[in-house]
Amino acid sequence: MLITEIKIGDRMKIPVNQKFHPEHGHSGKVVYISEDRKTVAVQCEEKHDGKTISVMVKIN
Ligand SMILES: [Zn+2]
Repeated sequence: MLITEIKIGDRMKIPVNQKFHPEHGHSGKVVYISEDRKTVAVQCEEKHDGKTISVMVKIN
């Protein structure tokens, strides 16, 4: 996916990240796009220990 196509509020799969998001198969909505447009923050739709979390995702 090209970041030029990503907008705030878009839904995307959250990649597995051993440190910040080890769970497979979660999706969420884009809540932030970095100024250099290389990183987005995605808020996971699933609860993590009862909490809502956002994960930074690098876009290639
Ligand atoms: Zn999650």
